[in-house]
Amino acid sequence: MTDWLSKLNDQQRKAATHVEGPLFVVAGAGTGKTRTLTTRVAYLIEQAGISPESILAVTFTNKAAREMKERIIDMAGPHAVKTWIYTFHAFGVQVLREFIDRLNQGYKKNFNIIDEDDAKAIIRDLIKSQNLDNKQYKVNDIRNKISDYKYFKEDKFDDYHERNIYQLYQKNLVENNLLDFDDLQVLTHELLLTDEVTRTYYQNKFQYILVDEFQDTDHIQYEIIKLLGMKHRNVFVVGDPDQSIYGFRGADYNNANKFMKDFGNQVVLDLNYRSTTHILSYANRLIKRNQNRPFEKDLKSNLGDGIEPVIWSAQSDFNEANMVANEIKRLVSDYHYNYEDIAILYRNNALSRTFEDTMMKHNIPYVMYGGISFYQRKEIKDVLAYIRVLLNPNLDFYFKRIINVPKRAIGPTSVQKLEAKAKELKISMFEAIDHIDFSGKAKDALHEFKSLILEMSDKLNYMESLEEIVMYVAYHSGYIAMLEEEKDDISEDRIDNIKELKSVFVQGEQFYEGNFVERLQQLLDQIALYSDLDKADDRNAIKLSTFHQVKGLEFKVVFMTVMEDEIFPSPLSTFDPKDLEEERRIAYVGVTRAKERLYLTRSESRLLYGNWMNPSPSRFLKEMRPVQEVFTSRKFESSPTQKNTTFLNAGDKVNHIVFGEGIVVGVEDGIATIAFKMPHGIKKLLENHPSIKKI
Ligand code: ATP
Ligand code: MG
Repeated sequence: MTDWLSKLNDQQRKAATHVEGPLFVVAGAGTGKTRTLTTRVAYLIEQAGISPESILAVTFTNKAAREMKERIIDMAGPHAVKTWIYTFHAFGVQVLREFIDRLNQGYKKNFNIIDEDDAKAIIRDLIKSQNLDNKQYKVNDIRNKISDYKYFKEDKFDDYHERNIYQLYQKNLVENNLLDFDDLQVLTHELLLTDEVTRTYYQNKFQYILVDEFQDTDHIQYEIIKLLGMKHRNVFVVGDPDQSIYGFRGADYNNANKFMKDFGNQVVLDLNYRSTTHILSYANRLIKRNQNRPFEKDLKSNLGDGIEPVIWSAQSDFNEANMVANEIKRLVSDYHYNYEDIAILYRNNALSRTFEDTMMKHNIPYVMYGGISFYQRKEIKDVLAYIRVLLNPNLDFYFKRIINVPKRAIGPTSVQKLEAKAKELKISMFEAIDHIDFSGKAKDALHEFKSLILEMSDKLNYMESLEEIVMYVAYHSGYIAMLEEEKDDISEDRIDNIKELKSVFVQGEQFYEGNFVERLQQLLDQIALYSDLDKADDRNAIKLSTFHQVKGLEFKVVFMTVMEDEIFPSPLSTFDPKDLEEERRIAYVGVTRAKERLYLTRSESRLLYGNWMNPSPSRFLKEMRPVQEVFTSRKFESSPTQKNTTFLNAGDKVNHIVFGEGIVVGVEDGIATIAFKMPHGIKKLLENHPSIKKI
């Protein structure tokens, strides 16, 4: 047996060496689903001799895809690099680059991909050009409705104008040969469904299909897998219903039932290899509260009891973040932990700011997942827009972005006139420069710009390696000079970011094959698909992230922060038991990321969205903590503001610093009604105020 097969337990090995026919591995967090899937790919290649090109493995994030590819190459050897390992979106790009013209919808194979910001920018322009009131017609709102319409076929448009914007948006995309993220899936599905040539090609090609995080696939993704897998029927999916957390984006656990009906054959894994028993008992107690659990199973660990999780309460959000920072420093200096072993998790991105500021102040290196991404920074998008225009000057969308950056005396009016001319003559804006009928400074500037583009584009054609591009473009376009002139902290950061972009290109050189333009195009695709901070190096830094972004990952130490009602579970979810259960699964994903240490923290007051609030502890804390023990948390020496959380129940005896002994009469929303001896009488107090001790 190979070394890597012997590292699986019997159940896992059986699943990994299952060759013919479908298989659905359903199992809890940390039971080795991903490891089993990865090993199975290596097994198919190395032991069964299957050609890597005929294997498709689908992951949830780009990062997961990269890691999986590295592991498979480690196990099965260098030729495994040809395995198709992609996210659903990236897979769509591959298919569409090959066959999109067969849809006959006007798209060409050399399309560009726009991100959410670009999509919103287009909608903003349309609202303006249609002279609509931007208070009534909101960009985000219309963006969501367009997506609902395209992806879910749900028509939520309120009136004619909104529907009209959708139509203009779509027209704009097709005319500019642009695809948004919805298109990457919808068009791939449409192509596989309606075009026999495409369908047959991929059905024959992929003898083996594997899907990780199957519980979070949506209806279109399921149909894509079904269409691809129908011929060979070797579809292998792994998932955990308790970790289904993308319901709000249409993920559909009914896919599991569909799979069983369409393909069938299920196995279960039940031993957790990630976390200690104490941590798993928190996870088990929590998820038990969910009614809707297709596979009820407690997670069991073989790693021993480990360290008890702790629940900490702080007086302010600022104190909470400081507490966490101090503990991180202690873990790194007094224990064997490195920064990269540690993650700080929270419910949504808006909560990251306090932690970011605090980590900076404490000199703790961090990277943020899912915040404003490197690739969404203005300077990065500008330089990339230049590169796209140099490849094809007729891309109006990108051309417009850079026409006056840096400033070249081409004002908005001239741009509008140029655009109108292009429309009139049905040519690109770049081509329309030769036909403008105004004169003066702007005209000269436009002609100069045109020569600059032609000159740079010519130079690009003679380049051999991707490495040369970024700095050439950044300098030659005048972009760096512009930043140097601004000369402030921000412009220095921007120059650093552009240099960082160069390293992305240097790395890309090792990854892609084909001639220069093909390699460049592949790299631009990859960049367009990045959804998180995928910057080259996040080693030796703690991670700041939402729960959603760490799906499938693991950390020795996890801080689950802002565990407060009104935030987590999110207030909207508490109206509907189904939504509340999804929130609970999100918390479950958080707990099950932790290998050795789990901290649950909250604050009694918080400044959020500009308002002060006094949130109660999250109900999930009560659900998770052991019933008998109240003082599960450890005193935290270095922070005077930190104290134990005492969750009180009616009948508990307490001792209060001022009022002395008392008996709890009732607790509601974090407020305890306590009867003290006379002369104090009945008091209503914060149930976990430091002045109260349970006795
Ligand atoms: P999640 O549901 O969070 O995605 P998972 O089921 O995919 O989890 P993995 O990430 O594959 O679980 O495995 C969890 C951890 O356990 C990893 O560190 C993995 O290397 C380890 N592991 C898995 N199987 C074994 C095994 N048989 N022996 C030792 N370690 C294992
Ligand atoms: Mg996994």
